[in-house]
Amino acid sequence: MSEVVPPDAVRFCIRCGAPLEKRRRAGKMRPVCPVCGWTYFSDPKVAVAAVVFSENGVLLVRRANPPRQGLWAFPAGFLDAGEDPRRAAERECEEETGLRVRVSALLDVQGKPVEKMGAHIVLYFRAEVTGGILQARDDVSEAAFFPPEALPPLAFEAPGKILAWNLENANL
Ligand SMILES: [Zn+2]
Repeated sequence: MSEVVPPDAVRFCIRCGAPLEKRRRAGKMRPVCPVCGWTYFSDPKVAVAAVVFSENGVLLVRRANPPRQGLWAFPAGFLDAGEDPRRAAERECEEETGLRVRVSALLDVQGKPVEKMGAHIVLYFRAEVTGGILQARDDVSEAAFFPPEALPPLAFEAPGKILAWNLENANL
């Protein structure tokens, strides 16, 4: 084979099972099925994050899994196909922290370089607590509110920037 195939590349047609070939489609060389014509498009992976404030500070979770295991981040997770992004952010927050929240605003959209097991696009939503009991669940080892002057080590640079802006405007 003349072309290097990435280890995660799709090799067979998911419709008919035939081996895929590289052909030009929509301006790029892409895996195409020579039998049924199906084209594999590598779509961006989208994550949603909840930015939640209380009088005790900002809600963060400690990541129990790679990437950036042991560091802290906003409650977040991947968007399922067909899922409303706002509801997904609320769902992820409750799954990870036990707190029920309601999204009130879209804060930022950030594109990221491809990271193994990470997202390409992250939607950050401001959300308000409506109920529930704070407890670490799902993919996190701890969940807690932190005052702005005592933040733990953050997993990603982008949340730090969003945090700085929001802390200025949060009237804590
Ligand atoms: Zn096919």
